[in-house]
Amino acid sequence: MNDWLLTYDGFDPDSEGLREALCTLGNGYFATRGAAPEVVADDHHYPGTYVAGVYNRLTAEVAGRTVSNESLVNVPNWLPLWFRAEDGPWMSDATCEVLEHHLELDLHRGVLTRRSRLRDPAGRIVAVTQRRFVSMRDHHVAGLETTLVAENWSGTLEIRSGIDGTVRNTGVARYAGLGDQHLNVLCTDVENDEVICLQTETNQSHIRIAVAARTRLFRDGHRLELAPTPEQTPGQVAMRFAVEVRQGAELLVEKVVALFTSRDHGICEAGEEACDWAQHVAGDFETLLERHVVSWRHIWERVAIQLGTDGEINRILHLHIFHLLQTVSNNTVGHDVGVPARGLHGEAYRGHIFWDELFILPFLSLRLPQLTRWMLLYRYRRLDQARREAAAAGYRGAMYPWQSASNGREETQTMHLNPKSGRWIPDASHLQRHVNGAIAYNIWKYFQASGDLEFLSFYGAEMILEIARFWASIAEYNHSLDRYEIKGVMGPNEYHEAYPDADRPGLNNNAYTNLLAVWCICRAFDVLEVLPEDSARHLRERLVLTAQELDHWGDVSRKMRVCFHDGVLSQFEGFEQLEELDWEDYHARYGDIHRLDRILEAEGDSPNRYRLTKQADVMMLYYLFSDAEVAELLERLGYETDPELAARTIAYYEPRTSHGSTLSRVVHAWVQARHDPARSWDQFVEALRADVADVQGGTTKEGIHLGAMAGTVDLIQRCYTGLDTRADVLVLDPAIPEELGSLAFDVHYRGQLVHLAFTPTTVRVAIDADHGAPVVVEIAGARHTVRAGESIEVRVGEEAAGG
Ligand code: BGC
Repeated sequence: MNDWLLTYDGFDPDSEGLREALCTLGNGYFATRGAAPEVVADDHHYPGTYVAGVYNRLTAEVAGRTVSNESLVNVPNWLPLWFRAEDGPWMSDATCEVLEHHLELDLHRGVLTRRSRLRDPAGRIVAVTQRRFVSMRDHHVAGLETTLVAENWSGTLEIRSGIDGTVRNTGVARYAGLGDQHLNVLCTDVENDEVICLQTETNQSHIRIAVAARTRLFRDGHRLELAPTPEQTPGQVAMRFAVEVRQGAELLVEKVVALFTSRDHGICEAGEEACDWAQHVAGDFETLLERHVVSWRHIWERVAIQLGTDGEINRILHLHIFHLLQTVSNNTVGHDVGVPARGLHGEAYRGHIFWDELFILPFLSLRLPQLTRWMLLYRYRRLDQARREAAAAGYRGAMYPWQSASNGREETQTMHLNPKSGRWIPDASHLQRHVNGAIAYNIWKYFQASGDLEFLSFYGAEMILEIARFWASIAEYNHSLDRYEIKGVMGPNEYHEAYPDADRPGLNNNAYTNLLAVWCICRAFDVLEVLPEDSARHLRERLVLTAQELDHWGDVSRKMRVCFHDGVLSQFEGFEQLEELDWEDYHARYGDIHRLDRILEAEGDSPNRYRLTKQADVMMLYYLFSDAEVAELLERLGYETDPELAARTIAYYEPRTSHGSTLSRVVHAWVQARHDPARSWDQFVEALRADVADVQGGTTKEGIHLGAMAGTVDLIQRCYTGLDTRADVLVLDPAIPEELGSLAFDVHYRGQLVHLAFTPTTVRVAIDADHGAPVVVEIAGARHTVRAGESIEVRVGEEAAGG
């Protein structure tokens, strides 16, 4: 099996959506799902194209409420390429018999190949081979090459190459009813015998999107000079060609597309640019493809991970890295966008940006740090809005929203549909204030890995300080306990929105939130220490940050309340008073109980009543921090801890977790790595299956789960290697699972490219000769200095202890 190929054989209408999502091609600027070029959106197909950062807001009435939602817009479809024999129907799986169907996604080259044979009702067979790419090099450009062979007939083959502006956002059935029409078509143009152009504008955000397509036909390597028939129907433009074909001879159709929007930089006007590129700038398919493939080769040289293990794991990890870099790449830099939880691969969560960055940016910080920096600037540009969100809720500092999109206002839905019961339900998930901790964590980790003091001084520090200020202001002092409390929030466990029978949503003293808040405040103090003196002073003056306020932060960071029960950390205050769920009964009755929230609501019950968790919540603490760091935080607060706290906490929550989010198994695999390696490996393998096997009951077709994809790669990169960046030290403390055998990759650390290689018993660290300052590496507790041109190899594990 080739570790770089994702292949599908045979036509299976029910798997089309999943295949389309996983065969999406993108370049960090725009992405197009792997739908066949001749299909339109229906029950099985969904040919979506999304441009990073192109959002639009619609307002609708549901269940008696007016709701408004901002969505990543499905922009005009550039794929359409229809073909038919003479008077037959346009050929597709709907009109023809599919004799053969094969899809092959080449992850190394970023090329999707499709081979099908279709037989029309008159028995005429056309074999179609298509290759397509969305250029990683020329990021406004995509190409589709189609080879058609009339297998058992000769005659006229008709071809129609078009652009479809009548598309809507109908990719997620649950969102039907929320409005789906985002585009107004401005014009359709036929420029000449090759180029057509379609321009649209989003109807609320007024972003113009222009798509131009150039179509050329070739036979035996020679270009056919044909006079196509232009077709302009409302919202669509196409060119139709009629070609005489001989049985068995190949006809090649080359479609090269350029896409621009009015948000792009360095352009005059989107329509002009798109036409100009399609007509004059973009070379032929083959030349464009070569350029694209070179860019992917360069990317893989930077980000690949070499494993000494079997093909399947490698292949899935390649797939995960591939989709991550199709969502965020060097092409993203310069565009004002964040990293959407479901990629640019579908419409779930409307392209919003969540805390999922916490699972994505740490991986990038060590491999392509410029991308993390850029993604953090997305947050910086929305700092003022976060200040406004905090002020509106009665707090100080910056309160970033749970779901963010264009301008950083809170985009979380206020109602959601339970497809199981058909009911619209009020949604309080915006109370997940822990997203602020995720942002601060990513800034700090980026700084630790990169040493980018300039970023910290101008952007990162201000965000961390304003987030710390928010935590200090949301924390209420409880006189009788002499403790600070954070009330009325939600942890990552979205199944608990409120106390049973409470009339207001929110829970008190979520352990993850409270400890993360303390950690943020501690880092705010560190930031003031690390910054050059005048930068720190300027920042304090600008933020009017007084000594008195800092004292208050210090107080909060030493007296935050954390609840315990049965010797474990309580997910929130009162968790232990809830009822136990009869898990066996639910398993027996429902089989798949990932979405216990929907099951219980449909039964007229509520997850709020039970000791259950959708996903890792308390466990997040042991994901972000080592056992020792969690213990340190608790000790700072004056709580007694013991070395078994982590193990007991894991043992308590694991059986009560339904893993209703793909992020959950990533966290469990991570946390178990040092407690129960076999269990960790099982969870890791499960986490790997999340999208390829679509384990969340069919949600992958609505978009990939980017956090879980990046998180699984990061498990290899940071968890199993014990890689951490602390103070000025690159820490390695490997616990390489036997199943992995060996592991090698390069990290960017403080401007250096550091080569790392691990076996179960050795760690090798090397720096190329032409690189600068020495790196201090701590391996299994012992420090070493590695200079440019040097390498060290250290024995670890039982052998080292024995030897
Ligand atoms: C998870 C959240 C996550 C969101 C977007 C939800 O199902 O519970 O933690 O941020 O999906 O991926």
